[in-house]
Amino acid sequence: MSDLTQYDNIISKLDETYSSGRANGNLLFFGSSVTTHSDGGVDFEIRLCPSLSHKPQVSKPVVSNPDGPFSPPYVPGLYVDRLKEEEEEYVVLMNKYCVVPNHFLLVTKEFKRQTAPLTPPDLAAAYNLMSAGRRQGKNFFMFYNCGPLSGSSQPHKHLQFMPIPEEGAPPIEKLAQRQRLEVDGKAFIIPSLPYAHHVFRLPAYRSRPLEEILDILTQAFISLLDLTFQLLRRLPTLPEGPPAYNVLLTFDHLHVIPRGRAEHTLSQGGLDVPVNALGFAGMLITKSEEEQGLLIEESPLAILGGVGLPVAEGESCSTVESSILDD
Ligand code: AMP
Repeated sequence: MSDLTQYDNIISKLDETYSSGRANGNLLFFGSSVTTHSDGGVDFEIRLCPSLSHKPQVSKPVVSNPDGPFSPPYVPGLYVDRLKEEEEEYVVLMNKYCVVPNHFLLVTKEFKRQTAPLTPPDLAAAYNLMSAGRRQGKNFFMFYNCGPLSGSSQPHKHLQFMPIPEEGAPPIEKLAQRQRLEVDGKAFIIPSLPYAHHVFRLPAYRSRPLEEILDILTQAFISLLDLTFQLLRRLPTLPEGPPAYNVLLTFDHLHVIPRGRAEHTLSQGGLDVPVNALGFAGMLITKSEEEQGLLIEESPLAILGGVGLPVAEGESCSTVESSILDD
């Protein structure tokens, strides 16, 4: 069993590191406003953030060079702390370019690739950080952009944690929560979503010993990844490069969404809209009112469909062969 106090310590340091990071100029905050737009049963949160157009283009280090911003020396003003889960060591950094206060990153201490799947320690560390947040009245969900077509910009493995209001949930997670399941312990899809995805419902928070929940989480991820690869194998043409997918983790669900493209080109105006895991949580970001208008006109769900992969024909609610949960 890992040391859970390290997670509590990290969560308790977030507010102060965020404030001092802003004060000393190491952390840049971009103000924004959020509009809700309903599309196909999803109440999309569309964030308008004009100042993002002034954000410096984050340089894309080549994969063979491990010395990106997530390798030491860390910027002291962004460094929260280190942590250890099983044999894996990590550091927690504040997001340098913040649109939502306290958005933070869990980064592997050694260079690991962002094209690599999440490991059992990655998943355990994510769940433990979210649980520590919950103990302190702070709600987060985790997202992971795996592979270049998933919307990631840094090659060093990093999981991201986005604050959400207490009792709140990302819009597409709310759809998963409303889904009635005939059986527990099997992956499911949300029929109204026009792109391939698989979701697993986790046992309720604290309904089982932590070790058991973490074990189920690992098995769920393996099952969802297996379904993703089955889907890729059936495609007539594979997307370019290593397999790309987005992962979302809340206390209730794990979602895996395979990706075919990093950006969607709007049919009117030809603007490219980059989409990462947040898009598949139902949260999109735009830099101008014009872009926001065009995005809404095109339909956020259609945009997700444009950067995801088509739903496999005949795929229905229950897709995993054997049940993960044994009662
Ligand atoms: P992604 O684009 O999904 O690969 O995520 C990279 C994240 O790291 C984004 O949220 C960036 O804002 C953030 N980021 C970029 N450079 C830095 C840095 N030097 N320190 C901390 N966070 C950074």
